Amino acid sequence: MLLKRLEAYGFKSFADKLEVEFDEGITAIVGPNGSGKSNITDAIRWVLGEQNVRNLRGNKAEDIIFTGSSTRRPLGAAEVSVTFDNSDGKLPIDFQEVMITRRIFRSGESEFLINKTKCRLKDIYNLFADTGLGKNSISVISQNKVDEVLNTKPEERRYFFEECAGITKYRERKREAVRK
Ligand code: ATP
Ligand code: MG
Repeated sequence: MLLKRLEAYGFKSFADKLEVEFDEGITAIVGPNGSGKSNITDAIRWVLGEQNVRNLRGNKAEDIIFTGSSTRRPLGAAEVSVTFDNSDGKLPIDFQEVMITRRIFRSGESEFLINKTKCRLKDIYNLFADTGLGKNSISVISQNKVDEVLNTKPEERRYFFEECAGITKYRERKREAVRK
C-alpha cells in the first residue's frame, strides 16, 4: 500500500492548496523552521482520524484551520485528502485507489469521506485497523513522540514494540474477552 498523494486546503499554515505527490522509496521534505514540515505530518494524522487536537499541536479543533496572516484573511474551513494505491488489496475495500478526505468548518461541523462518499469516523478506523496505519499506529512519529519513547518507563516502552510486532490487536481482544 503506497501513499500516493496528499492534498490540503486551509489546513494550518496552508492557505493555498497544497499538493504533494509521493513516489516509491523515501521522500524527504526540507525547509526552514516554521515552514510547515510538521504540519504535513499533522495533516496525515488528522485525515486518518486523529481526534485529539493536542496531538496535532493545537488546543481546540478550530486551531487546525488557517488563522490568517498580515496579508490573508482567515479561512472558514480546512480539508485534507490522502490517496493510497490499494492495488495490493491491503485495505479491505474493492478499489485500486482509495482517497480519504476530512473536512472541518469553523462552526465545528466536520465530515469524513471515502472515495468522495460520506462516511463515519468509525468507517475510517475500521478501514485502517490492522494495516499499521490506524489512529494509534506508530507509522507517523512526531518530534515529541521521539522524546516520549526515550523518556518512557520500560513497561510502557514495551507497547511500542508490541505495536510494531502487530500483537496489539490480540491484547485488545483478550482484554475484551476477559471483561465479558
Ligand atoms: P521546525 O523545523 O521548527 O520543526 P516545521 O517546518 O516543522 O518547523 P511547522 O511546525 O510545521 O514547521 O509549522 C509551524 C507554522 O505553522 C508556524 O509558523 C505556525 O504559525 C503555523 N500555523 C500553525 N497553525 C496554523 C493555523 N491554524 N493558521 C496559520 N498558520 C498556522
Ligand atoms: Mg517540525
